[in-house]
Amino acid sequence: MKNHLSLVSKLDGVDSFIVPLSTCQDFCKYYDFHVCYWLNNPHKDYKNPRLMYIRNLRLMRSSNFVKVLSNEILRANCRKFRFFSGGQTETVEQLENILKICKICHQTKFAIMINADWQIQALIKSGYEIPKNANLLLSNYIPNSKTPDFIKNHLIKYNIGVTQTTLIKKLSNCEASMIKNGTCGTCEKCYNVKDITFKIHGRSNEKRIKDYEER
Ligand code: SF4
Repeated sequence: MKNHLSLVSKLDGVDSFIVPLSTCQDFCKYYDFHVCYWLNNPHKDYKNPRLMYIRNLRLMRSSNFVKVLSNEILRANCRKFRFFSGGQTETVEQLENILKICKICHQTKFAIMINADWQIQALIKSGYEIPKNANLLLSNYIPNSKTPDFIKNHLIKYNIGVTQTTLIKKLSNCEASMIKNGTCGTCEKCYNVKDITFKIHGRSNEKRIKDYEER
């Protein structure tokens, strides 16, 4: 049986599901500015991660997705799980399938981060209820940009949170991102908290973002 899960060392070995960046890059300024974490740090745990992500995408598009992935997560017996360390869902139907998997694997805590605001809006419109063990977060696709309060206040009514990034350390509430090569340790904010700010690392990333902001 083929495995579709990745262990992400930055997250202290939390299991994760990753699909190619082709699913998120078109809507994302991190990709355009070469600030995207996965673009600069390709996954090293597998011989050919690119093939694995393509295989994962094929699965996510298939009618077997919910059954196959929930079985794998149940077998892995993990306490925490991350959708997506790279990539995202392509349609609201795929997003609903992710939430179905969370419901089936009710003993696991899920963090789900996507930047596709239209999928979140369609999900809200459909009235789909987010399972208690799933923390669905809309990622801001512009680096160093705070998500406006009106968006945050709207989403929270539906139990959906937001994430954004900053260049200013004191504005971040993610411990792992404040330290070079930092890991999550005992922090579980991604699985519970509805407003998370990650710190962007590296002088070259800072320069790329500042160059863009000054344009
Ligand atoms: S907020 Fe906490 S759980 Fe999320 S990435 Fe940062 S350290 Fe890890």
